[in-house]
Amino acid sequence: MVRAIVGANWGDEGKGKITDMLGEVSDVIVRFQGGSNAGHTIINEYGKFALHLLPSGVFYGHTTSVIGNGVALNIPYLMQEIQSIVDRGVPTPKILVSNRAQIMMPYHILFDQYEEERLKGKAFGSTKSGIAPFYSDKYAKIGFQVSELFDEAALKEKVESVVAYKNILIEHLYHKPTLDPEEIYRTLLTWRDMIAPYACDTAAFLQQAIKEGKNILLEGQLGTLKDPDFGIYPMVTSSSTLAAYGAIGAGIPPYEIKDIIAVVKAYSSAVGAGEFVSEIFGDEADELRRRGGDGGEFGATTGRPRRMGWFDAVATRYGCRMQGATEVVLTVLDVLGYLDKLPICVGYEIDGKVTKDFPTTAELAKAKPVYEILPGWKCEIRGIKKYEDLPENCRNYIEFIEKEIGVPITMVSNGPGRHEIIKR
Ligand code: GDP
Repeated sequence: MVRAIVGANWGDEGKGKITDMLGEVSDVIVRFQGGSNAGHTIINEYGKFALHLLPSGVFYGHTTSVIGNGVALNIPYLMQEIQSIVDRGVPTPKILVSNRAQIMMPYHILFDQYEEERLKGKAFGSTKSGIAPFYSDKYAKIGFQVSELFDEAALKEKVESVVAYKNILIEHLYHKPTLDPEEIYRTLLTWRDMIAPYACDTAAFLQQAIKEGKNILLEGQLGTLKDPDFGIYPMVTSSSTLAAYGAIGAGIPPYEIKDIIAVVKAYSSAVGAGEFVSEIFGDEADELRRRGGDGGEFGATTGRPRRMGWFDAVATRYGCRMQGATEVVLTVLDVLGYLDKLPICVGYEIDGKVTKDFPTTAELAKAKPVYEILPGWKCEIRGIKKYEDLPENCRNYIEFIEKEIGVPITMVSNGPGRHEIIKR
């Protein structure tokens, strides 16, 4: 059975924890999009980890971790990440990398920096991991697949041709030192030797796994609102964050994805620029940021303070719908126990009219939040194992959200640990 775990919001919903938890009963865990630009935080018996490229299942001896063709593969980064977990006592994980995955080139990261410098204040809030230049090149057909590393003559020729093109931009647009094709070629040969033991036809591997009835998890990165088509374009990421893309980025038939778990955060947080209707500021935001997540709401990759807001039912319903969510996990609910009142954004007022539909970016910029206020529960809910044992106001908050988003909330996460979960 194939199941996808994806974000319904702006990312950082706690997908890592849910993947890690469901990894226990999975055979294969697949990354299908994105790269090392976002991170998942996982807490387990080995300690606390921030993973960026590896799927969150790498801690189990029984799972195979797959880096699918849809991923932006930063080879030295992957090697480093594997080493860093092994150094902390995690058994060497089984990892397969698609031979159709494309390679994050050294110049992608440079171009990301150069472009941010060029745009100055108008930048997209990139994490500067090379993601946008990487996907641009992939679709401009000047990217490099893992498989291409193994034909030296063809590789050399292609590097020369691509670098000649890149150097024109570097020299005339960015006024930076040009690239040496020979050096890039040699770097790629060292990367080839690093990746060779992992590279294979992962789509064929997954097809076989499906045939054998294995449990497969597709692990999404970021969330619906960062999707290039359905998110807050252009303040989005460069690969699709939707479960549907899981089929493409992993190389499996779309009809095999039977269960789509949308991870929803009990309040809102976002990194980077972009419209954020229910955003809060000042002391109110600082307090939620300080108490949020596990040890505060700061980006797992960049350490940037996250922007904070109240629960946005409009964005989340849309987020779940575009994911095709079959069920929802509501996370970090424990954080909200300090509040007397919990505002929930139930509508957007745009040009004097209230809507419950999530609009395009230009309209979104005009939206003002319409709140409904629910009473808080004013106590600690960590440690509670049964839904009925949650305080009444807490259950009301969950059930109100469930009604607004129209998808069953099957699990509630009330702490960062692997087993801090309440199943309904
Ligand atoms: P991801 O990218 O969706 O995996 O999310 P992140 O890992 O960036 O952010 C989630 C943060 O919240 C991490 O620090 C988690 O350890 C933490 N977390 C996840 N679920 C819960 C929860 O139910 N309660 C609390 N307090 N923290 C949680």
